[in-house]
Amino acid sequence: MLRFVRGVLPRLGTERARLSSGWVPRAPDVNSFAARTNTCGELRAAHVGQEVTLCGWIQYQRQGLFLVLRDFQGLTQIIIPQDEAHSHVRKLLSNAPVESVVRVTGIVSSRPPGQENLKMPTGDIEVKVETAEVLNFCKKLPFEIKDFIKKSEALRMQYRYLDLRSSQLQHNLRLRSQVVMRMREYLCNHHGFVDVETPTLFKRTPGGAKEFLVPSREVGKFYSLPQSPQQFKQLLMIGGLDRYFQVARCYRDEGSRPDRQPEFTQIDIEMSFVDQAGIQRLIEGLLQYSWPEERGPITTPFPSMTYEEALADYGTDKPDTRFGMKIVDISDTLRRLDIGFVQNVLSYPHSTAKAICIPQGVRYLKNKDLESLKAAAKSQFNQEIMDVICRPDGSLKSLLTKFLSEEQQSELIQVLNMQVDDVVLLAAGDHKRVCSALGSLRLESADLLEAAGMVLRDPAALHFLWVVDFPLFLPKEENPSELESAHHPFTAPHPSDTNLLYSDPTKVRSQHYDLVLNGSEIGGGSIRIHNAEQQRFVLEKVLKEDSEVLSHLLEALEFGAPPHGGIALGLDRLISLIVGSPSIRDVIAFPKSFRGRDLMGNAPDYVTPEELEPYHIHVSWPAAETEAKKN
Ligand code: ASP
Repeated sequence: MLRFVRGVLPRLGTERARLSSGWVPRAPDVNSFAARTNTCGELRAAHVGQEVTLCGWIQYQRQGLFLVLRDFQGLTQIIIPQDEAHSHVRKLLSNAPVESVVRVTGIVSSRPPGQENLKMPTGDIEVKVETAEVLNFCKKLPFEIKDFIKKSEALRMQYRYLDLRSSQLQHNLRLRSQVVMRMREYLCNHHGFVDVETPTLFKRTPGGAKEFLVPSREVGKFYSLPQSPQQFKQLLMIGGLDRYFQVARCYRDEGSRPDRQPEFTQIDIEMSFVDQAGIQRLIEGLLQYSWPEERGPITTPFPSMTYEEALADYGTDKPDTRFGMKIVDISDTLRRLDIGFVQNVLSYPHSTAKAICIPQGVRYLKNKDLESLKAAAKSQFNQEIMDVICRPDGSLKSLLTKFLSEEQQSELIQVLNMQVDDVVLLAAGDHKRVCSALGSLRLESADLLEAAGMVLRDPAALHFLWVVDFPLFLPKEENPSELESAHHPFTAPHPSDTNLLYSDPTKVRSQHYDLVLNGSEIGGGSIRIHNAEQQRFVLEKVLKEDSEVLSHLLEALEFGAPPHGGIALGLDRLISLIVGSPSIRDVIAFPKSFRGRDLMGNAPDYVTPEELEPYHIHVSWPAAETEAKKN
């Protein structure tokens, strides 16, 4: 069974209350109420001689002599009796196909000397069957339930209930449940949070992700599935439930990616009378308390970095700090060069020249790798990249070198700390674009170096990082003259920048904080605006949103709203990082495909015109779709 680190100890008062209520934590009884005495992972030499009953799936069956029975906890070898008195049992078990469900009763025996299996926790024993029952037969499987058998993800998703039998998914889902249990314990039992469920049928929240619509019986009216319980948790603060949490299902109609799903789960938290540091300490304590022992202890407090620093040094607001290769500013060096095109680029406002140094790039990267890195910067960021190589004699090879004096070459080598065989990627232009492009190249080249055998990131390392001091607003990507919230419209300005909100909103920093783990954003939150006038100003004047949609919240803020703030942790992403899985689909019992489909139940699905009638909806079918539907 999994065990967990005891991080933050319960406070004395809480501990006393627990003892007086008679509640003593103990290992769960996994056999209670069930038709078995033990699980398939439980039996050891100490059980020899006991009569036991096991239930499980047949993992292997060999020549009617023995079988291996599996359940969530492990495997046990079952010896099929060969004597005449047990011929019925032998026939039954020999004929049952793998993955049939059986119940066996028998005596635990030591394996004959030399036949112990050191790789199996139950490898010292076997169970000699007395009676057996096939509870259900298994028909021919679409794929074998063996960890080493490769199967396509589409097939795994179509038969998700079979895939769930794999040890990996069993482990992931059970670990997820235990982490959530520990979180509940920490929040509710140790810190007095209240678990409140909020509606999933609501209305549109302006600003932010695209929401799913749900038709209603009122003509032309739709519900929205909330992208998060943001409004409700703030309203709970106004309602005096001053410490709220929820394992909240959220919905965003954004299509799936390896780390995104249309429906996903957040550990959603809100508190009254708290500041940014308070929320940060709460989350550090929560993670420390719920962190599984198998991933080693975590150290708090987590380091912190401003958004500006993160962008300048790592080119992203979620830096992977497990390795170096930071972005280096070389504007000063390049400004002193007498090269027309460089001077020209650097003459624009907000322009810069920056570089990353790829250690041993000459040895680990192929020419085509370098070319594809440069092409990616061009296609994704419209950013030209120049490469510079440090030759074995210490000289530089680049289109730039013919413009550089020896002294300038040494300066560049020094600024970038270049060693022989290093490759430098250099970019000049708009600060944000240059940083983002180099940040992306930094990650891509790290992947390439690792694929070629360099050890760059320790797979066991855990680099938590708070990113703080975000701007309150950012220019909209599609129309940079308009502003959108960097987090969401309810985020409060940084106290020292409040006046700027009314004069130059682009310069306002916010009280928004993100939590990053190994380069992935695992949480984000903010201290909220609790003043109705300020909230109205942000919505109407800065974001140009229709504040009418939020009139209920604006009104609520006028009835004695306490100062409050909160955060949401992305549970799926957090668990996938804990178990080291590249996709959040591996930690969700029934995930959607890339295109947002449930491949097992085939959702979304067509409904009949009659079913649509109460909603006053008529589907006008494009011809191609009508054909597809007929087929
Ligand atoms: N509701 C926010 C989100 O989903 C988190 C928060 O501000 O608490 O990103």
